[in-house]
Amino acid sequence: MPLAHFFLRERLRSGDVAVDATCGNGQDTLLLARLVGARGRVWGFDVQASAIAATHALLEVHGVSSCVELIHGGHERLAQFVPPGVRAVVFNLGYLPGSETPLTTTPENTIAALGQAAELLARGGFILICVYTGHEGGPEEAEAVEEWCRALSPKLFNAWSSRQLNRPAVAPYLVVVEKV
Ligand code: SAH
Repeated sequence: MPLAHFFLRERLRSGDVAVDATCGNGQDTLLLARLVGARGRVWGFDVQASAIAATHALLEVHGVSSCVELIHGGHERLAQFVPPGVRAVVFNLGYLPGSETPLTTTPENTIAALGQAAELLARGGFILICVYTGHEGGPEEAEAVEEWCRALSPKLFNAWSSRQLNRPAVAPYLVVVEKV
């Protein structure tokens, strides 16, 4: 989503470490790879082999695959792969439109991954969560994400929600969590 990309362009620097927790078609992974550059490192997760393949192909076309580690596995295993000191973690929730067997993210896995992401963040690092409520299970996942955010200590984290006021209530919105 454009607002998420605006944040990433503003805050990510060459040499940073970043994570795409839901690669999907790879657009976010591509932006992360471009922003951190060859001196940086990106981890990308997706449970669908087709998403990992599409992301790999996109990175190859743009010549930025060497700084990216793609993992065909769930983001609930984030901490098994990613070391501490992460600058940005991006989640694009819901399902990938157009995929043959739409596979949605789940509250359980999303919350598990968010907990690990928060632990691994560097100070000043942030998590971007693009939340979708227009599909079955979407409202429950959105509520789980917001509940998780509300429980974060304000001494350690800032947590914002950003909705579009001139769109239907089911329009996707962005949640930003920053480690202070
Ligand atoms: N709703 C967005 C796209 C979301 S893509 C839009 O409309 O643009 C969400 C991706 O998350 C899918 O590719 C799906 O395979 C992936 N996914 C689902 N569960 C996952 C998990 N546990 N770990 C990592 N990726 C997961």
